[in-house]
Amino acid sequence: MFDFSTRCERARTLMGERGIDALLASVGSDLPYLTGYHAEPSERLTMLVLPRLGEATLLLPRLEAPRVVERPDVFALRPWDETEDPIAIAAGLCAGSDAIAVGEQTWSVFVLGLQRSVDAAFRPAAPLMRELRMRKEPAEIDLLRCAAHATDRVVARLDGASFTGRTERDVARQVEAMVVEEGHDVAWGAIVASGPNAASPHHSPGDRVIQAGDTVVVDFGGTLGGYHSDTTRTFVAGEPSDRVTDAFAVLAEAQRVGRETAAPGVPAQQVDRATRAVIDDAGWGEFFVHRTGHGIGLDVHEHPYLVEGNDLALEEGMTFSIEPGIYVRGEFGMRIEDIVAVTADGSESLNRSDRSLHRVS
Ligand code: ZN
Ligand code: ZN
Repeated sequence: MFDFSTRCERARTLMGERGIDALLASVGSDLPYLTGYHAEPSERLTMLVLPRLGEATLLLPRLEAPRVVERPDVFALRPWDETEDPIAIAAGLCAGSDAIAVGEQTWSVFVLGLQRSVDAAFRPAAPLMRELRMRKEPAEIDLLRCAAHATDRVVARLDGASFTGRTERDVARQVEAMVVEEGHDVAWGAIVASGPNAASPHHSPGDRVIQAGDTVVVDFGGTLGGYHSDTTRTFVAGEPSDRVTDAFAVLAEAQRVGRETAAPGVPAQQVDRATRAVIDDAGWGEFFVHRTGHGIGLDVHEHPYLVEGNDLALEEGMTFSIEPGIYVRGEFGMRIEDIVAVTADGSESLNRSDRSLHRVS
C-alpha cells in the first residue's frame, strides 16, 4: 500500500540537504514508516541503517527475521545471531560516516555503544523524520479516517448506556472492547474519569463508582493498520448542574472555533490561541491546562503540536487533534477531542460523532 522506496529516497534527499551521512532507525515509528516493519522494544538490537549513498540494511535478531516482509528494493536484511555483536555490525555499516542521525526512541545502551565504536558526530533524526511524517499521504489519511469513524460508532453505542453504579475501570473495559469490535486491530487503554477525577486530564480509570450528576470524560482509541485514533467525548450521568452546562457550552464553542481555524498557512499556535480565547473570554481560562492538540499518525502523539510558541504553518495533509478541556479541581472535568486533517482550503474533521454533552443513566 505504501511506497517505502520513495519514502527512503525522500529521507536521503533531506539527509543530503542537512549533511547527514547515515540515518539509524530503531524501535519507534520511524522504522515502520521507512520499511513497513514494526519492532517491539527489546534488549536485542533492531536497526535500519540508511546511508545517504548506498544500500539500506535492516539489522535484526535472527529470531525476528520471519516477521519481516522483505522488500529488496528498500533494504537488505541482515539477521544477527545470538553470539554476534550487533553494535559492531551496525558500526561497520556506518563506517566512513561523519554525521549520523539517530531516532529519538533508540535505547541509550545502543546509542552509547555506537558512540564508542564510530568516530562521527551524532545528531537527532527527529527534525528530519518529522518533515516526512508530518505531511500525510492520502492513504495514511484514509487509515486515520477509517479509525476515526470506528471510534464514532463506539460513541453512538455509548449513547444511552448506563454508567451510574459502575466503576470507571468497568466502563473502560467495555469501551476498549467496542474499539476492537468496531474495526481497530488493538485498543489503547481508555481514559474514563468521573466526577472529581475528570479534573485530571490523563486520569487512569480505577475503582471509583460513577454517581448521578458526575461528568465522565471518556478518551479512547486504538490502531488500525498502524494508524491511531484518539477521540474524547464527555458524558453526564443523569442531570448536569447549571455550572457544568454553562462550562460545556463554552468548551463546545472553543472546540468548534479550533476546527474552523485550522487551515493551510495558519500557524499551529493560532489554533491554540483561538480555542483558548473562547475559554478565557468566558472566564474559565485558568482551568484549560494543556495545549490544544497534537499531531497523530503512526504515533498517537507526534508533530505538529498545537501549542503557543509553535509558529509552523499548517499544510494540507497534516493531521492532529483539537481537544480543549476545562478541569475544575475537586469538582468536574470535560474535554471534546476530534482528529482533523488539513485540506486544500480548510480542514476536515475525521470524527463526526455527536459532540454534545452525552446523557447517560
Ligand atoms: Zn489526544
Ligand atoms: Zn485523547
